[in-house]
Amino acid sequence: MSLDTPGIARHRQAVAVLGATGSIGTSTLDVIARHPDRYRVHALTAHRSREALLAQCREHCPEVAVLDQEQDAVWLRSRLADEGLATDVRAGTAALVEVAEASDVDVVMAAIVGAAGLLPTLAAVRAGKRVLLANKEALVMSGALFMDTVTRYGATLLPIDSEHNAIYQCLPVEHRGGLSRHGVTQLLLTASGGPFRGWTPERLSTVTPDQACAHPNWSMGRKISVDSATLMNKGLELVEACWLFDARPDQVQVVVHPQSVIHSMAAYSDGSVIAQLGNPDMRTPIAYGLAWPERIEAGVEALDLFQVARLDFEAPDETAFPCLRLARQAMAAGGTAPAVLNAANEVAVGAFLCGRLGFIGIGELVARVCDALAVGRADDLESVLEADTLARRMATSLLGDD
Ligand code: NAD
Ligand code: MG
Repeated sequence: MSLDTPGIARHRQAVAVLGATGSIGTSTLDVIARHPDRYRVHALTAHRSREALLAQCREHCPEVAVLDQEQDAVWLRSRLADEGLATDVRAGTAALVEVAEASDVDVVMAAIVGAAGLLPTLAAVRAGKRVLLANKEALVMSGALFMDTVTRYGATLLPIDSEHNAIYQCLPVEHRGGLSRHGVTQLLLTASGGPFRGWTPERLSTVTPDQACAHPNWSMGRKISVDSATLMNKGLELVEACWLFDARPDQVQVVVHPQSVIHSMAAYSDGSVIAQLGNPDMRTPIAYGLAWPERIEAGVEALDLFQVARLDFEAPDETAFPCLRLARQAMAAGGTAPAVLNAANEVAVGAFLCGRLGFIGIGELVARVCDALAVGRADDLESVLEADTLARRMATSLLGDD
């Protein structure tokens, strides 16, 4: 029976947006608001941004809102009560996990930035939800454990990262069990090259946080903007692609494509290369994840190829941007290595953003932590979290020494 059968009301999917006040969160709410017949907002969560969450509660009337701190929850509760809004306001990680696994939630948008998203995202997977994965760090940290949990609990995992969403669209519907089984020889992961493409290491040493956060093609949160500038974002995405698509690191080729129009490609054994194109606007992959296997309007302007005019490609410069190589090495090392890489990077990016570390220092600090810590097994959550804690501790102490 078609969902659009006249006279039959569609079941409106209940969506929990984790990290609602961020760049991906607000784009998600934009797409949802275009389709009130299909989706309703069940829960919205934010870390500290209580004013932004208040505005979103007014507009989307969620059943639940979650903030990190109890004092912020008290503030939001009283503001909403004053306005006669019935949202249940909660605080802390346990509340995040509760909304991610709540029985009345159908879809979870995992859009918290960094390792903080791991527990709620895994909870959504364990509850068998449709999980829209923007929070790449969660998958990078827990790799095999994450993917095994998806299979074990029958969750539907849809990649939101634009490159992985593109590859998902370019692969056969059933693509598990190794790429070669499906005639795929390589995944071509495109990268804009960031704002400092072509810069020498000398020039890179002068980069400021504001320069690093001004991405030429995409408007994003500050952490991922810095990752894009160092190419660590592409490194994390390489790890992400290996897990999502059962690929070996040597089956993923990074291709710098400054226009960000081709979002990634899959190459096949018969010589075909299938690409997904579009304007650089995250509402496209978000709408794809929400509606899959259907398609819905996303508010994204149609691609004008005459205006694009040309598509350029070049190899990444791994000498000036060592983070890509570090990530590939971590994926090849396996076990806890990607969790260590991710944690060291989060500390380094935080230090760069508050002026305690130079731009070049990000890759140097990550390399030192990855070299110093032995690779362990990452079969359970405790081992992953322990590796994360150790790497953060070591990165923080190395920062203090400098
Ligand atoms: P952002 O900084 O704009 O937003 C992050 C959101 O998470 C905010 O709502 C914030 O309140 C919340 N948050 C931050 N720290 C938290 C914590 N410790 N606990 C709970 N909540 C916390 O980030 P973003 O750009 O929207 O990115 C979100 C995720 O999506 C990241 O993992 C990023 O790599 C990924 N992603 C983003 C884009 C993009 O275009 N922005 C593209 C691809 C992937
Ligand atoms: Mg991406």
